[in-house]
Amino acid sequence: MSVPDLVIAGGGIVGLTSALVAARRGLRVTLVDQPRAGSASRASAGLLAPSIGESAPAVHDAFVAAREFYPAFLDQLLARTEIAIPLDRDGVIDLASTSEELDALAAKSPPTAERLDQRALASLEPALADHAGGLLHPHDGAVDNVTLMSALDVAVARQSRIARMTDEVASFDGRGNLPGFRSRGGTRYAGKRLLVANGAWAGSLPGLPRPLPVRPVRGQLMRLEGRPVRRVIHVPGGYLVPRGNSLVVGATSEEVGLDTSVTPRGLKDLRALATRTIPVLAHAPMLDHWAGLRPMAADGLPILGNDPQVPALCYACGFSRNGILLAPWAAEQLLPVLLGGELTAAAAPFSVARFAAT
Ligand SMILES: Cc1cc2nc3c(=O)[nH]c(=O)nc-3n(C[C@H](O)[C@H](O)[C@H](O)COP(=O)(O)OP(=O)(O)OC[C@H]3O[C@@H](n4cnc5c(N)ncnc54)[C@H](O)[C@@H]3O)c2cc1C
Repeated sequence: MSVPDLVIAGGGIVGLTSALVAARRGLRVTLVDQPRAGSASRASAGLLAPSIGESAPAVHDAFVAAREFYPAFLDQLLARTEIAIPLDRDGVIDLASTSEELDALAAKSPPTAERLDQRALASLEPALADHAGGLLHPHDGAVDNVTLMSALDVAVARQSRIARMTDEVASFDGRGNLPGFRSRGGTRYAGKRLLVANGAWAGSLPGLPRPLPVRPVRGQLMRLEGRPVRRVIHVPGGYLVPRGNSLVVGATSEEVGLDTSVTPRGLKDLRALATRTIPVLAHAPMLDHWAGLRPMAADGLPILGNDPQVPALCYACGFSRNGILLAPWAAEQLLPVLLGGELTAAAAPFSVARFAAT
């Protein structure tokens, strides 16, 4: 059997989008994925919200570019899979409970934000009439990440240049003519290039030439019956995301290692957040709950590019809180690296070179 051009460890949104982009350019790809509890891509809330939070200008530009790439990306997937993925671009409202809080939000928000006083907020979202106001980020929104992951699975299955293996990568093995990932059962998946894309587990993959500063951060979510708001609502400590005729409420942020439990305390906190935002949610039936592990990088930004000491070894990990937003765009930025060239200039803030090797 001929050697694949690319071997990818991990089949979350990052591994799948990278595999598809590489295969589209003619590379033969082996994707090695062992499904694990807590994988982030299906657990996520699916916000596409580059306008929330502060970031350096180059990072903000990249996040906005990633959001703007989404419609074309979903169209490509629709053409390949006939699966229509719900995309909400109605805006995200950053809620304020006092006018001072609104001033503070406005001061750190991009100029595209629209200030909503109490009346304007109530006319957009009547369920929020008791709040002092908010900021509307008109181009942000959310994607149904669960449907998206199903569509990516179908697209990968239909791509003849991708071989998908269910197996657990136990270590990176850089010895010999070609580097490889070694599985727990002893299989060696060698390739011309290798890509580490195994989410929250990237920081503990043995054998890498440098420690990757990626750790799991647990997020618990619940889904409540009913849809009292049209748009995504962001509040201190969490968010409400309409999905179909229900509302996803998230998320906790907990340093508990690889523990993927849903806890009574987590559910209580989420219910309290929902009720503080929209009091009738105190009685909304809970339809579902789950937890996922964010692959959190030390600085909260993805790690992209090839290893300066082992150029055949590439990284696409540490997507932290924004992997659904960033992964489709990041796969395009990484493609030149997978073809033997350089990371694009737009993705330079995410280069692995920002972390020193040991
Ligand atoms: C609660 C929560 C809410 C979030 N909300 C948002 C949001 O609103 N918007 C947003 O943009 N992002 C959000 N994120 C972040 C986003 O989900 C992640 O950044 C993104 O999904 C990471 O994708 P990934 O492919 O790197 O990792 P994952 O989806 O975790 O995939 C990693 C894959 O690798 C496999 N794997 C792991 N180790 C091995 C191994 N040794 N061998 C083989 N396979 C292995 C795993 O089983 C899994 O299939 C959220 C995350 C969480 C947890």
